[in-house]
Amino acid sequence: MIFHVLTIFPEYFRGPFEHGVIARAKSAGKLDIRVHNLRDWTGDRHKTVDDRPFGGGEGMLLKPEPIFSAVETIFSERATGMRDPERRVILLSAQGRRLHQAMARSLMGISELLLVCGRYEGVDERVTEHLADDEVTIGDYVLSGGEVAAAVMIEVVARLLPGVLGNADSTMFESFEGEPNVLDCPQYTRPAEFRGWKVPEVLLGGNHEQIRKWRKQAALEKTARLRPDLKDGPAAV
Ligand code: SAH
Repeated sequence: MIFHVLTIFPEYFRGPFEHGVIARAKSAGKLDIRVHNLRDWTGDRHKTVDDRPFGGGEGMLLKPEPIFSAVETIFSERATGMRDPERRVILLSAQGRRLHQAMARSLMGISELLLVCGRYEGVDERVTEHLADDEVTIGDYVLSGGEVAAAVMIEVVARLLPGVLGNADSTMFESFEGEPNVLDCPQYTRPAEFRGWKVPEVLLGGNHEQIRKWRKQAALEKTARLRPDLKDGPAAV
C-alpha cells in the first residue's frame, strides 16, 4: 500500500516511520510512504499556501489552489474529474469523523491513501466539499497541524497490512478488534512478584480454560472502568 502525505512541513516525517515494525515493513517493500511538500504546488515567488478567511476572524487558512493542484498531480485521474476508489483522499481535520479501528480496517484494502494535513486555522472548505473523499479527526481535541494525525493514521492502517506485524493473529485479539467494544485484557510478565505486587495467581498456573475466563472478565471490568462509552457498541464506519 502507498501512503501519500501532503504537508507544509515534510521534515516532520523524517522521524516517525524510522522505527520498529513500520521501518521494517518499509524496507521489506510492504508499504511505501511518500511525503509531498505543498509549497511545490504554489505559483508565486513567496510560495504562498495561506490567506485570510472571508468574513473575518482569527488567523489564516490553507488556500485551495495548491492543494487541488497537488492532489490532481499525485492522483492524476482527478484532473479529469474521475475518482478511483482504490486511491482515496482524506483531509485531517478536528471537524472530521472520528478515526477508529474499523475505519482503519476499511482502508487497508485500497492501493493508495493520500492524507492532506491542515495548518493554521484550517483549510478552505472547498477541499472537503469537492476534493477529499472523507474528513477524519483522530480525537476530540485541537492540534496545530494535521501532521501528527497523519502519522497516527498511517501507523494504525500500516500495522494491519499483511506481513507488517510478524504474526497476523496479533492484531486480531487487541483492543477494538474481535469484540470491538471490549478492550484488551490486562497482561503481566516476569517477575511474578514486583515490589510486593503479585501477578494474579490464575495466570501462573497452566489451566487454559481458567486463564481464558479470567482474561475475559478482566477485560470487561477494565472496559467498564475506563471506557464505559464502549458499551454502546463500536463506532460506525
Ligand atoms: N479551526 C479548526 C482547527 C484548525 S487546527 C477547528 O476549530 O476545527 C489546524 C489543522 O490541524 C487542521 O486543519 C487539521 O488538519 C489539524 N488538526 C487539528 N486537530 C485535529 C484533530 N483532532 N484530528 C486531525 N487533524 C487535526
